[in-house]
Amino acid sequence: MNSSQAILRNLQQIQSRINSACLKAKRPVDSVQLLLATKTVSAENIQVALQAGYSLMGENKVQELKEKYEALKTSPHQSHFIGHLQTNKIKDILKYGVHCVQSLDRWELAEKLHQRLLFEQKKMDVLIQVNTSQEASKFGVPPNEALALVRKVATLDTLQIRGLMTIGLFTTEPEKTRPCFKKLKSLQQQILALNLPGVDAQELSMGMSGDLEIAIEEGATIVRVGTAIFGTRPHPDSYYWNEQSKTV
Ligand SMILES: *Cc1c(COP(=O)(O)O)cnc(C)c1O
Repeated sequence: MNSSQAILRNLQQIQSRINSACLKAKRPVDSVQLLLATKTVSAENIQVALQAGYSLMGENKVQELKEKYEALKTSPHQSHFIGHLQTNKIKDILKYGVHCVQSLDRWELAEKLHQRLLFEQKKMDVLIQVNTSQEASKFGVPPNEALALVRKVATLDTLQIRGLMTIGLFTTEPEKTRPCFKKLKSLQQQILALNLPGVDAQELSMGMSGDLEIAIEEGATIVRVGTAIFGTRPHPDSYYWNEQSKTV
């Protein structure tokens, strides 16, 4: 089997996992979007998935966004940023067509994004990334500071808060991620109850190759899947997130 056949087969398997999880949770199958997590994946392989009808993709590093931009320009897609974003890369993510930053996790970043967006007369969707696993090494706002950050970001009219994102606990036992997803859902309920003007926090981006069923049971609207579609990556996830992360 060549790599594009493998990708197409894997996409079918992921879609059927999503569909079964939705049925089990009594949710419509179209209530969950699949985001292609494309770190280290070639533009050619990404195109296989885009042409199969999956149009939402997320990169972790600005460098990769840049490298694949030209090749992917001709395939319609929506680009999200899902990695740690340094403020000095803000110009680049606007230049390379990022539609939504899912990893907004601090006020400084929100403020700088806002300034740049004002200057370019643009707006952008964001998700607030929450560190639901409370591992010191992972990015995301601590759960007890999330509401305060949401309130502040809501005052910036260039940033449209669409919901929350989290990376579940690093674990080989998917069930252990459930409390993280429950936490994110409960924060979302609290945000919705605030009725903040201009905030429409319907999206919950949670669940990956190993734990997407659990995330869907707990209310995910976007699952971010890499390995189960494109195969294993050259480095462990800790390399892309933070060197100190450990598997538990
Ligand atoms: C890599 C990555 C994913 C996908 O992880 P897989 O286990 O390969 O499915 C999802 N979200 C983020 C933020 C990632 O960095």
